[in-house]
Amino acid sequence: MLKTTIAGSLPKPAWLATPGTLWAPWLLEGRALDEGKRDAVVLALRDQEEAGIDIVTDGEQTRRHFVWGFVERIEGVDFSRMVTIGIRADRYQAEVPTVVGPVRRRGPIHSDEVRDWGIAALDRAVEGLTCRTAVHICYGYGIKANIEWKRTLGGEWRQYEQTFPLLARSRIGGVSLECANSRVPIGLIGLLGDKDVLVGAIDVAAPEVETPAAVAAVIRAALQHVKPAQIYPCTNCGMVPLPREVARAKLRALGAGAELVRRELA
Ligand code: ZN
Repeated sequence: MLKTTIAGSLPKPAWLATPGTLWAPWLLEGRALDEGKRDAVVLALRDQEEAGIDIVTDGEQTRRHFVWGFVERIEGVDFSRMVTIGIRADRYQAEVPTVVGPVRRRGPIHSDEVRDWGIAALDRAVEGLTCRTAVHICYGYGIKANIEWKRTLGGEWRQYEQTFPLLARSRIGGVSLECANSRVPIGLIGLLGDKDVLVGAIDVAAPEVETPAAVAAVIRAALQHVKPAQIYPCTNCGMVPLPREVARAKLRALGAGAELVRRELA
């Protein structure tokens, strides 16, 4: 019961990619890169095991980033005109699209996607799988731009009131959601039916390490709306932008907080 896990990424070792940087370029090449990625996965697994995390992940040590799909739907960005530029004070080169006019978000980029074929695509993705499955709903890493964007979302984030009933009817096994310091009303998880809920109890946008008691409080709030057997205490999102020591301490807090509630339930 209350098996802990994490949402996606962990910081990469400094010998593999530049620390504190999103979609940081690889610092190795060829076979050395393949081997380095595998080594980094082993380290990520070990950090999680030492922290008492029950369901471990690869910490996304083998991929760079996922941002492209979103940017492609933003007005004013032309993907047919790719250029290579130096970024992060010219520390490295990246291939990027060209901004050709005012940059504007035309509207929700994925919501019609979700309704018309997104859930069907999700079902297809898990078709035939016999393992447990889950999907992560992302409010973004804890970088400055995301933190400022969240301030514009208002007091209550109810965007998932429409999506959760759709997910409840899907074949996906569970949903991973930001709950720590989030303004998503926790009661919305009740709309997920019998799905597993990976309750984000670690804020990845703050360097302060949660106490086990704070983690436990988030889990207890979730327990008001879904059964204990459905809950998997988790991180809000990936921790890749954080210093590794902070990420390790947060993993330990997650393990310890879940243990507190596990004991109460026992
Ligand atoms: Zn996320």
